[in-house]
Amino acid sequence: MSKQQFDREAILNLSRSMAKGAPTKPAAHRGTHHAKIDRSKTDFATMDLYQQITIQRQMAEKLQTRDPYFVLHESRAGATTIVDGKELINFASYDYLGLNGLDEVHQAAKDAIDQFGTSVSGSRPTSGERPFHRTLEQQLADLYQSEAALIFVSGHATNVSTIGELLGPTDLVLFDAYSHNSVTTGCKLSGATRRAFKHNDFDDLERILEETRNAHDRVMIVVEGLYSMDGDMPDLARLVELKDRFGAWLMVDEAHSLGVLGATGKGLFEQQGVDPKKIDIWMGTMSKTMSGCGGYICGNQPLIDILKFFASGFMYSVGLSAPLSVAGSKALEIMQHEPWRVEKLQSNGRYFLKAAQAAGLDTGLSAGFCVVPVIVGDSLRAVKLSNNLMDRGIYAFPITYPAVPMNSARLRFFISATHSEEQLQQAVDITAEELRKLEDANFSIASALSNLNAD
Ligand code: PMP
Repeated sequence: MSKQQFDREAILNLSRSMAKGAPTKPAAHRGTHHAKIDRSKTDFATMDLYQQITIQRQMAEKLQTRDPYFVLHESRAGATTIVDGKELINFASYDYLGLNGLDEVHQAAKDAIDQFGTSVSGSRPTSGERPFHRTLEQQLADLYQSEAALIFVSGHATNVSTIGELLGPTDLVLFDAYSHNSVTTGCKLSGATRRAFKHNDFDDLERILEETRNAHDRVMIVVEGLYSMDGDMPDLARLVELKDRFGAWLMVDEAHSLGVLGATGKGLFEQQGVDPKKIDIWMGTMSKTMSGCGGYICGNQPLIDILKFFASGFMYSVGLSAPLSVAGSKALEIMQHEPWRVEKLQSNGRYFLKAAQAAGLDTGLSAGFCVVPVIVGDSLRAVKLSNNLMDRGIYAFPITYPAVPMNSARLRFFISATHSEEQLQQAVDITAEELRKLEDANFSIASALSNLNAD
């Protein structure tokens, strides 16, 4: 049995052994007219999805670890955070340039509320738009040297609506195997033929294009500027060559690369010296570097016009609020006027990666920018490590299967320009120490399972 199969089987066994306390199914209703309807199916508590959550909670309790989800924080997300009155060094938030805590950004958002209120109270096509929408879209279009831009209220909805609307059943969408859920959900919604290519493997992408391109009308290739679980980047020039040769669109999700890559934070194209006009669809989110929330698409005018009228997540959704739009605008201004923030983030990323590698931690594919994983393999070990780090003043979230492949569970460290080198070093030292303890104790799904069975 492969290690992967073993882990999957072990999780299932562990779940079964713990399911004893899970809610039992209520008896099916025996109505005269609808005797065949199993009414227990409409009880949320009997759904597999709920059982999974219950089992997870029971597992956390039995293993005496905190449930890692929905931890209650008492302060804003910065380089540090407060949980249960205790200050922790925070590596679970993506305020990459430290703009979320800046007076200048706060003041601009407050002024915008005073003038325009907290909501625009309607969708832009029907209720109209306001100057801050157009200002932000112009700034984004300028950044990517594109003809136009469109802002959405959610980064996730931006990908779902854009991919979902542009492609149809006669088309093909090719996406990196490590793509974010918003990309894969958009691909499903589109009804296009979907193929994942191996992560950052453009020989694989080329092979699929050779085999399948001619059978489809339109083809879209979707990649990320910097991968959110692994912290590595694609080769943009190679992608441009492929998309030109095969007559495809190229869409790049810059969620984790805006403010992070390139000398002035403009992202992947600046980092790799590629003309941004060669990319058909630039996508990004406002929840990271731009210290708010929402998403954007930049490209040529026809693309933006199509999305304005047909992207459901834009057309049928409220416009971005004044404080969020203005916070995003201010963040872009500061990013461009204060390049030291980008430099500091990049040097922090390099520092953390080097220190982690020197401590013998497995940082996988990370290039050492804003995302550095510490791969521990076993899912339970990752959860326990995160728990133990929290006790020691470090907050880093565990990422487990299915968000990452089986046996590559990890703690993900988001690095910010506002972390100090002391904080970074402390996090590495404590992580290495706590991981060693778990390895020495052979803490894993398999050992937890045998301990529980022995109970
Ligand atoms: N794309 C990527 C690569 C992401 O990591 C995320 C979420 N962090 C999104 C899109 C969705 O963005 P948001 O959380 O701003 O909705």
